[in-house]
Amino acid sequence: MDDLFWKAAYITLFVIWLGIRGYYRRDAVRQETKEKAGWGTDSLFLAMNFVGMTFLPVIAVLSPYLDLFAFPIPEPVRFAFLIIFAINLWLFVVAHRDLGKNWSMALEIKEGHHLVRTGIYQKIRHPMYAHFWIFVIAQGFVLANALVTVFGVAAWGLLYVHRVPKEEEMLVAEFGDEYREYMNLTGRVIPKF
Ligand code: SAH
Repeated sequence: MDDLFWKAAYITLFVIWLGIRGYYRRDAVRQETKEKAGWGTDSLFLAMNFVGMTFLPVIAVLSPYLDLFAFPIPEPVRFAFLIIFAINLWLFVVAHRDLGKNWSMALEIKEGHHLVRTGIYQKIRHPMYAHFWIFVIAQGFVLANALVTVFGVAAWGLLYVHRVPKEEEMLVAEFGDEYREYMNLTGRVIPKF
């Protein structure tokens, strides 16, 4: 399959991804913020993730500038990553649907925030972050671009490592033993058996 196929497939799925975020975001942003955890480093890493998950892939698709980072990949493998990327949209929908109005881009406690322990959150504490791990790996292989892969994984890895302990600390401060118990029963991104 030629380059245009992969680029068109990627852009189509990315536009669907934007639509999913836009749809669930509308309701969530209407919910007032009660407390905000520190910005600072978190917002720097968020900006890097905009580069890793939007700017670089879009440049790779629309321009020849990143072609020097292209790597060879067997077509069936590339196709498998495209399927993974597509199925991963389902995880994004489910996490957003289950988290509902408690979602926020930055670390926040909303007015009327409640601890979600149902749906996908019954198994793992960070399904949306699991989605982003799959996202950054799959996009790199679908676009077969080393810069997109390495930058995407590194930027996401930094945000993940920096944010998750802070997020869990914030949720323990808000929900106390209920969150501690929830931590004992679930894994971060891999279900606990
Ligand atoms: N880490 C989660 C949520 C990402 S959105 C995931 O990966 O799916 C980030 C916001 O979600 C944080 O501001 C936090 O307040 C909220 N949050 C995280 N886990 C939650 C839970 N189990 N119930 C309610 N809110 C949660």
